[in-house]
Amino acid sequence: MIPSEELKEDKSDHHGHHHCASERCDKCDSELKHTIYCTACEKIQQYNKTMNYFSIFGVSPGYDIDKKEVTAAFERLIFALHPDMYVNGSKEDQALSLSHTALLYEAKETLFYPFKRGRYLLSLLMPGFDGMIPQPPQAFVLEMFEIQEELDLVQEGSGSLKQTEARINLLLQEIDEALSADFKAYIPNREDKMTAGKILSNLAKLKFLDNLGERIRMIGKNLRDNLN
Ligand SMILES: [Zn+2]
Repeated sequence: MIPSEELKEDKSDHHGHHHCASERCDKCDSELKHTIYCTACEKIQQYNKTMNYFSIFGVSPGYDIDKKEVTAAFERLIFALHPDMYVNGSKEDQALSLSHTALLYEAKETLFYPFKRGRYLLSLLMPGFDGMIPQPPQAFVLEMFEIQEELDLVQEGSGSLKQTEARINLLLQEIDEALSADFKAYIPNREDKMTAGKILSNLAKLKFLDNLGERIRMIGKNLRDNLN
């Protein structure tokens, strides 16, 4: 888990002024569990710089997330912030309700996919990260060529799709574990280039495997269609 205080400090430094540790409601000053909405007085919150895809769900920024917790917060917030709830509200709240609803979908999508979550988290931790993902290491690219060849065989009717899928799932698991460890080791607000390099390398692998996963889904679908 990454200490959120450090993240907040970093953001305030970046904007050149200090910010208090916990977020409080615009209206009733209660401490906010979700930076997007006050559960105490039901006031929708203005955009502020501590609002991020983690804080809106009330979870700590980190690679390991509790999907059940995020899902529960998402469902609660999507209902509370629904534009139907603001038909009699101010123009400002109506506009926020629309944009915050879009933000909730975007945030959930990002947090649920390891590649997107990792890239987003790195952008929070590493000011100046432009989201660019490098090429994966050469050895990994060669392994991917091997897997592509296995898939060619599957498409020609020999080879086992299940076996290739198992191989990919094992790789995904290894990368997931490495990312989890690297993000825990990463020191925010420092020039931790070595850990950042490891994270970027694993994100590059994930991106590659995402594309491969797409090909496997297509092959699986064709195989099923041919059977029917
Ligand atoms: Zn409030």
